[in-house]
Amino acid sequence: METIEQMIQKKAYELGYEKCGIIPISLMEGYAERFQERLQKVPESRAFYQGQQRLVNPLEVYPWAKSVVVLTVPYGKYKIPEEVKGRIAKAYLFDVRIDRSTKEYQNNRALEKYMQKLGLKVETNEKFGVVGMRWAAMEAGVGIIRRNNFLYTESGSWVHLEAWITDREMELKETNNVPQCPKGCNRCMAACPTKSLSDPYTMLPTACISFLTTFGGRNLPQEPLRKSFGECIYGCDICQDACPMNRGKWKGKEEFPNLSGLAPELTPENILNMTEDFYVEKVQSKFFYLSPEELWKWKVDVLNYMRNNYVESYKPLIIKACNNKNEKIREMAKLICNELCLK
Ligand code: SF4
Ligand code: SF4
Repeated sequence: METIEQMIQKKAYELGYEKCGIIPISLMEGYAERFQERLQKVPESRAFYQGQQRLVNPLEVYPWAKSVVVLTVPYGKYKIPEEVKGRIAKAYLFDVRIDRSTKEYQNNRALEKYMQKLGLKVETNEKFGVVGMRWAAMEAGVGIIRRNNFLYTESGSWVHLEAWITDREMELKETNNVPQCPKGCNRCMAACPTKSLSDPYTMLPTACISFLTTFGGRNLPQEPLRKSFGECIYGCDICQDACPMNRGKWKGKEEFPNLSGLAPELTPENILNMTEDFYVEKVQSKFFYLSPEELWKWKVDVLNYMRNNYVESYKPLIIKACNNKNEKIREMAKLICNELCLK
């Protein structure tokens, strides 16, 4: 007879999940230790990681938690529209966490219902997770964490992670066939333009482009690192794209719901001209790290992109932005005019 763990795993596979492992909650203790080590190694990251405390001690938030079910959802099968390639990070383009139009979101809801039907009390946080998910996935045998801090399965690092805590003692390890990083490889670190990823498994989140162009981007005009953002507008995939273990893993064959229609609106020029109404209605719910009031951050990110990838056709747009009603947009545009001697 099948155990309850096997029933959950079987259901996950039927729904199309790539991997499904289950670990006792006690295996998250190692994450708490690693977390403290990281704070000591990179003290500047303390303020950032304070916000993650709820992930470190799940038992404080959910005293009834007994196990963690952790799963991967590959997204490398999707086509990347040319208009956004290299400019918006892939995990955000193919974000399925709250996008009800995706099969993956519906699968997440179906799996939760199934576990509840089995009599389990379960809890997840669709947007930001209930536990340190990469750690949980590694402990559950779902994959390995590489030196660039990403979790890899046989699909490379192009996988979303989902997790639930449950009120039942369970354990079922997954299997993976993922080789360790080659000896001496440091390509991800060498590729990181801001040196946020300074050593294996060591990064300063507040210097990471993904942080600075999304929820952390409070004062980009005064951020010296902005000049090294290259083509990144929202998020950064550079340390994953540079990794040989991701070679050949992106298949890019299937259409992601509603993306090919939206992508032409996300060119640098169109973001800079975007109205608040369009942003709130069509963009913000997908790229939810920036709030409905934060279209200005997208525009600041785009101005920075235009500076770093300047072509003559950007000139009138940058000059026009010098009179924008938003102070930060004006500040960025004027700085760029000075830096590039635009008149
Ligand atoms: S996401 Fe980009 S900025 Fe952040 S660590 Fe990786 S390469 Fe560096
Ligand atoms: S680039 Fe090399 S060191 Fe970095 S994660 Fe990939 S295999 Fe590991």
